[in-house]
Amino acid sequence: MEKRAPLWFNLLATPNSVDLASTPSQLVLEVEHFSKAYEGAYAVRDFSLSLAGGAILGLVGPNGAGKTTTLRSIAGILPVKEGSIRIAGHDISRAEAAAKSALYWIPDDPRPFDTLTVYEHLEFTAALYRVAEWRAEGDELLRRFELVDKRDAVGGELSRGMRQKLAFCCAWLAHPRLVLMDEPLTGLDPRGIRSAKDSIRALAARGTAVILSSHLLELIEELATRILILARGKKVFEGTLAEARAGIVAGEAKSLEEIFMAVTEQRTDDVAPPPAP
Ligand code: ATP
Repeated sequence: MEKRAPLWFNLLATPNSVDLASTPSQLVLEVEHFSKAYEGAYAVRDFSLSLAGGAILGLVGPNGAGKTTTLRSIAGILPVKEGSIRIAGHDISRAEAAAKSALYWIPDDPRPFDTLTVYEHLEFTAALYRVAEWRAEGDELLRRFELVDKRDAVGGELSRGMRQKLAFCCAWLAHPRLVLMDEPLTGLDPRGIRSAKDSIRALAARGTAVILSSHLLELIEELATRILILARGKKVFEGTLAEARAGIVAGEAKSLEEIFMAVTEQRTDDVAPPPAP
């Protein structure tokens, strides 16, 4: 599968002169007519999206809808060949390092470095994202996510939930303009879930744009300020939950689950073409 260099590798190459405060666009994310095909079959088709700081976008859709493909393309993990993606005004294809230095990506199963301790991951993240004076905040994050006891444990010794908690700590510490999360709560214990939800809200309150992809519709309903529903590679709804309730589902059906069912059933004609023979 085609892959790009890992995020940290590109950040190492980020020039010191990149000033995120003076980026040319107020929009944190601008996706225009983005399409992605695997071996001739479109996974995402003509997808556009704008997101301002402080927004929490809930990205939902059936299995295979194209959510992870979209997130991995925005994160710069998959190359963008059709359409364009700009992070804080920087084109992910043409100004890759600057674009990546404005985002943090939390995959569904984060893989920390086997040979770095929890604390060294914080140190590494602060160095990559050029965050000064991070130690007090780092200590507070370890307390909040109950990782104090694991401060000196290396990545390979962490459970899945601990790896996710560490990813949340690093995302917070990086002070990015955009955080992308793919099923961020899977594997977290109840306290971890509470801390993660609080962190997502706090990130948005700090002005960070968050994209939260999850099949947990109640989570999306609870946290998201906007909702985007993908089905078979196409955007079939984007707006607030109130707009979805008013415009999509007639009668008394009001939950996001009911809206999801209605939208993803209605639009089965609006799909990406089947794989080429
Ligand atoms: P899920 O909810 O199941 O995680 P998703 O919405 O994240 O699904 P994607 O993983 O983006 O969906 O997959 C979208 C489509 O692209 C699917 O048809 C999938 O089979 C296909 N696809 C994803 N990755 C690859 C790949 N590396 N090679 C070929 N096809 C792929």
